[in-house]
Amino acid sequence: MAPLLVVAVVLVIAVVVALVLVRRRATSRPTAPSTAAPAGAPAVGSAGGFGPAGLGARVRAAFGTGSNGDQWAALEEVLLKADVGPRATADLIARLRARGVGDPVESLRDEIVAVLGPTRAVDLDAPGLDVILVVGVNGSGKTTTIGKLASRLVGEGKRVSLAAADTFRAAAGEQLEVWASRSGAQLVAQDRGADPSAVAFDAVTSATARQVDVLLVDTAGRLHTKQPLMEELRKVKRVIEKAGGSVTETLLVLDAQTGQNGIAQAHAFTEAVDVTGVILTKTDGSARGGIVLAVREELDLPIRFVGIGEGQDDLRPFDPTAFADRLLA
Ligand code: GDP
Repeated sequence: MAPLLVVAVVLVIAVVVALVLVRRRATSRPTAPSTAAPAGAPAVGSAGGFGPAGLGARVRAAFGTGSNGDQWAALEEVLLKADVGPRATADLIARLRARGVGDPVESLRDEIVAVLGPTRAVDLDAPGLDVILVVGVNGSGKTTTIGKLASRLVGEGKRVSLAAADTFRAAAGEQLEVWASRSGAQLVAQDRGADPSAVAFDAVTSATARQVDVLLVDTAGRLHTKQPLMEELRKVKRVIEKAGGSVTETLLVLDAQTGQNGIAQAHAFTEAVDVTGVILTKTDGSARGGIVLAVREELDLPIRFVGIGEGQDDLRPFDPTAFADRLLA
């Protein structure tokens, strides 16, 4: 009896192990590119980006106790910790002091909206081809953002073309190709390692011939400390204009999770090319919304869009009032 039992137990164990192995193989197969959020990311599309920062409660706590001087020092600490940055923090405190605090959260909300100023749509008024140059460091989300922007513009009835001028990063061209076919935009690309300016030139010529409305130019992510790469960016812009395109917008893509380091990167880009606005990505994975104020005050640049996920529709125009409400919620 006992040997039979042992055989039965061994058989059951063997079957269980085999089933586990089969399941593992099935789930480790590579999957096709997807527009869904990665596992563990918050649900996308449902919220307007940035998790609850809980800043309202901390601001109330700062004004809850202590002397007047202590309260301002406590508020300063709350704002700096929320990534608001030194300049925007000083400005907000000066504004609150000048107007009188009243309800601190309400007052701060009003001042945040005032600091951010009105939003402006992306400028697409060139008589001929509008070119949007998209710049930023590697991994900030440039290529993905171009895909989302292309979808938006195609959805608005525009003829859109994409230029794969990031000829440096392996797979950047392929990634853009996927986005082009998803959004219905045309793609202009050359081999990896080609001169980015040559790609841009080709793209402008071809877009003009096809009466395209908007050309979105992906550029190689670069270390903001590398001057020759910054020079290359200037050249891409010059060549676009020489080919007859107007660079109506140069949008800097910044990862919201990089905090104050992102501001340092941004300075280098604004010095190299005339940046006209910022797209803040990955706001779905960050509760540190203060970066929005730092961008506005340290860089004096408007935030045009926020990325709230990896999907095609996860790009939203930036709304200062909704943002202030969410930050202080
Ligand atoms: P690039 O090197 O600047 O072109 O960056 P990519 O476009 O390749 O993006 C880098 C990674 O960030 C990719 O995995 C994207 O899916 C992801 N990504 C881009 N934007 C967002 C966003 O708004 N939210 C989230 N969660 N991920 C994003």
